[in-house]
Amino acid sequence: VYILGIESSCDETAASIVKNGTTIISNIVASQIESHKRFGGVVPEIASRHHVEQVTLVIEAALEQANMTAEDLDGVCVTEGPGLVGALLIGINAAKAFAFANGLPIIGVHHIAGHIYANALMQPMVFPLLALVVSGGHTELVIMKEHGSFELIGETRDDAAGEAYDKVARVLNIPYPGGPRIDQMAHNSDGAVDFPRIWLEKDSYDFSFSGLKSSVINYQHNAIQRGEVINPEHVAKGFQDSVVEVLTAKTVRAAQQYKVKQVIAAGGVSANKGLRASLEKTFEKEGIPFYVPPLHLCTDNAAMIAAAGSKMYEAGVRSDWSLNGRPGMELISWKHD
Ligand code: ATP
Ligand code: MG
Ligand code: FE
Repeated sequence: VYILGIESSCDETAASIVKNGTTIISNIVASQIESHKRFGGVVPEIASRHHVEQVTLVIEAALEQANMTAEDLDGVCVTEGPGLVGALLIGINAAKAFAFANGLPIIGVHHIAGHIYANALMQPMVFPLLALVVSGGHTELVIMKEHGSFELIGETRDDAAGEAYDKVARVLNIPYPGGPRIDQMAHNSDGAVDFPRIWLEKDSYDFSFSGLKSSVINYQHNAIQRGEVINPEHVAKGFQDSVVEVLTAKTVRAAQQYKVKQVIAAGGVSANKGLRASLEKTFEKEGIPFYVPPLHLCTDNAAMIAAAGSKMYEAGVRSDWSLNGRPGMELISWKHD
């Protein structure tokens, strides 16, 4: 089964062909980071315009790289939500036009299901499985009992982890997207500012990062007021240590409680060196298999959408021509117990 995946929910326009939900045949990502940098974040109108310019090109490039034509495909899968509505619609309309013109079925895919299924491109999923989803807009712990079944056991009550990274980066005057730079600074640092760990209620699997972000801002302001010079590397390291410690501890506790057979990390922040190292070390000690995709499959791409879409295709899920962008789409199971 060959599936074309298309992703345009935020600032990457991407297309990919995946075989049997497990093997990448081609993978094209056109990033807009340069265009959004000077605004310090993603500007929706600019994102939409870029998607319009790029979407046909990335689809053609994905076919070309695979050395395939539309006739070789079995279906088209596209990100249905969540994301920027204007951005989503461009991928969806391109997908519909391509599918209709070539007599192919179309399937709308949840972006976070995609992030999770990036892992299926690396090794088989083993259930029950725990996924730590950490991205620009989401921080969630998800239990999967089988393919297509998602149970949300915890999520952020305010900022997502990636959002916190990007906001702290702004405070430190680091260009967008701040995550990778803060990661690097933390890695190079020879010290760390002591910032709080936000645990919430004892049993909670929820997260909160806005208090930590405020602590960083206050630290910076107090230093300026006292005429002190701050060490940005120490701030980056202190911030990252707090994020990583809380994410790791809650993920381990969930893995134990739900007796999972596999733990995976997903989403842009799972590209973080500090987080990867912490999770790898901890789960090795726990004796629970832990996996995280290579960096280019952690951040937004279409191979992950094709991977999740392939499993939906196998399960008989189909969308119709009324498929529309759903900016606030919830992660719901496509298979129930
Ligand atoms: P969502 O997937 O929730 O809809 P998104 O698609 O915008 O949001 P992703 O593309 O998955 O998010 O991830 C982007 C986020 O990942 C940004 O916030 C970015 O700063 C962060 N990020 C990327 N690399 C790293 C890193 N090495 N360390 C920390 N954060 C990182
Ligand atoms: Mg992005
Ligand atoms: Fe994403």
